[in-house]
Amino acid sequence: MAGRLQGKAAIVTGAGSGNGRGIAAAFAREGARVLVSDIRLPAAEETAGLIRASGGVCEVVQADVSKRADITGMVDACVAAWGTVHVLVNNVGILVPGGVEEVEEEAWDRVFTANLKSVLFACRAALPHMTRQGSGAIINISSISAIRHLGLNYIAYPTSKAAIDHMTRIMAVQYGPKGIRCNSIQPGFIDTPMVKNQVVGALGAGKGEEEAAYQGYKAKRAAQVPMRRVGTPDDIGNAAVFLASDEASYITGQALTVDGGVTQSVGN
Ligand code: NAP
Repeated sequence: MAGRLQGKAAIVTGAGSGNGRGIAAAFAREGARVLVSDIRLPAAEETAGLIRASGGVCEVVQADVSKRADITGMVDACVAAWGTVHVLVNNVGILVPGGVEEVEEEAWDRVFTANLKSVLFACRAALPHMTRQGSGAIINISSISAIRHLGLNYIAYPTSKAAIDHMTRIMAVQYGPKGIRCNSIQPGFIDTPMVKNQVVGALGAGKGEEEAAYQGYKAKRAAQVPMRRVGTPDDIGNAAVFLASDEASYITGQALTVDGGVTQSVGN
């Protein structure tokens, strides 16, 4: 089935890698025009190249979502290209180690700026366009860490994700009467560069041993998941297509967990 997002103009942040790339590609496959945004222009261009090679339509913009001016420029670029914004995916998320007693104030602020304040200002920039047209879909990428301790005492990232979920609910109530839906997605363990970097760093694998260490970690994780595999960015892309599409027109204020069932399993 294709064309589920035909005619929609969509913005995906952090679309140069991982889940953001998966979402941008899935949107394009379904007929959306996609503004591929990332802090790293070459990464965004790589995603755009993949989309165009498959016949999709996209534009590219460099935007650091920690900077309000970049967020405004990103939304303006979408409006300049296609006249409006139908779908906004706030996908950027960064992670820093450290529990309550360890995390540096600067790191806490960095995480909350990139993960949460960015959502506030991206929504603020996109909402007037959605309000004008009387429809819109906002999808915020959260995490299962918003609802579960995942084995590491990291405090900033999961707390920011829980805040994203609640912000999503509040916005859903306020903007429902304007035809705008707000939902979040809580990915489980998804095989992306962010995870690989974190895992390899945390395992302290020696030079040349990184790939083997990561494969071992993935196999261990997969065994914990009822579906017996780790997730892929396509899994998140498919969920985002559904939430962005008119098939989800009566769904708002929800957090959709996409985790192969791991949060339902004892011992995780
Ligand atoms: P990823 O592979 O690191 O991709 C994120 C992209 O966003 C990268 O291109 C990154 O650039 C970019 N980025 C980082 N900071 C940015 C900023 N300030 N402005 C704009 N772009 C920025 O990460 P991912 O695993 O796909 O994660 C995407 C989302 O899924 C995040 O919200 C994450 O919390 C969520 N999530 C992921 C998992 C998982 O298992 N992968 C699980 C739960 C939730 P750099 O490479 O230069 O940093």
